[in-house]
Amino acid sequence: MALYDWTAPQGINPDRNQPSEFHGVLIDGTGATRPLSTSVVARDRVYEARIVSLLRQIYGTQTGRALFREIEGCGWRTMAIRPRAEVSFPALDPNADSTGFSPNHIDLSPRKKVKEDRDDVRQLLNGNDDVDRIIRSGVGGGYDVEVHFTPGQFVDFLTAHKGRLAVDTAGAQPDEILLHELVHGARQKRGLFNQVELDSDFDDSEEFIAILVANIYASETHRKIRVSEKEAVPDIRTSHHGFAVYRATEEAFLPEAADLNFEIDENFRLVSRFVDEQPEFANTLRTINCPFNPVRRYFELLEKRRNVETQRLSS
Ligand SMILES: [Zn+2]
Repeated sequence: MALYDWTAPQGINPDRNQPSEFHGVLIDGTGATRPLSTSVVARDRVYEARIVSLLRQIYGTQTGRALFREIEGCGWRTMAIRPRAEVSFPALDPNADSTGFSPNHIDLSPRKKVKEDRDDVRQLLNGNDDVDRIIRSGVGGGYDVEVHFTPGQFVDFLTAHKGRLAVDTAGAQPDEILLHELVHGARQKRGLFNQVELDSDFDDSEEFIAILVANIYASETHRKIRVSEKEAVPDIRTSHHGFAVYRATEEAFLPEAADLNFEIDENFRLVSRFVDEQPEFANTLRTINCPFNPVRRYFELLEKRRNVETQRLSS
């Protein structure tokens, strides 16, 4: 493609005198080093066009639209997508990242403490989430967010270092990686981002939540479900992570406790935390009709317990 053939897609400013934007997400290709096949002077615009096309692809799904509503609803904090610097080629450092910036940010720890002390599920069961709403809207939280992402970097990493095709790997496609980072970004923007270390392969609670949403997206778009943070792995797992395949159905991911006491289950507690912190987002996700939807499953389990409680009280 010659430079003079290049027509800017909708949403891209060909003169670059103002940033490109898609549903409240700023896209800035300045410094893009790819694609290698493209003239150096055009890489910024090609980068922006590629990102817009990925964002459109994401927006074309129910999961994606729910996520953009969440990002747009995050108030005045900004979110920008910029190229990720390449350490070496093919990249040795495979991942995209999402970073929060706030020169004057307020320490969120007192608010986090309040959240952790609360009995989230009881609040939900009583239908009394006003307290949650007030805490969640806490003034001062949140960051301006920068997502660093270069399409294709991770695919190159898999091919060069793992001898594995990205197409067979859960969560590794450019749109899936970008969506995953946008979930981190939305939570940083809201001031909810708080990495609580986990014993499981998800590593921490924020990875759990990003992978949770990306898995609903994968299920909606008929792709493989990711079961670990450490690597984006195929459904067929290595032996020392034998639980992974078992967890790939939502019933196995959120098993029904015999006594309906779900709080002992880590996955249940983490989904509960997500629902509590981002209720509008979660309420849209629960309506998505796809095979693997732990958010829907979570509400079904709560409903079941509520029915049992009601029956018990009325008998
Ligand atoms: Zn992540």
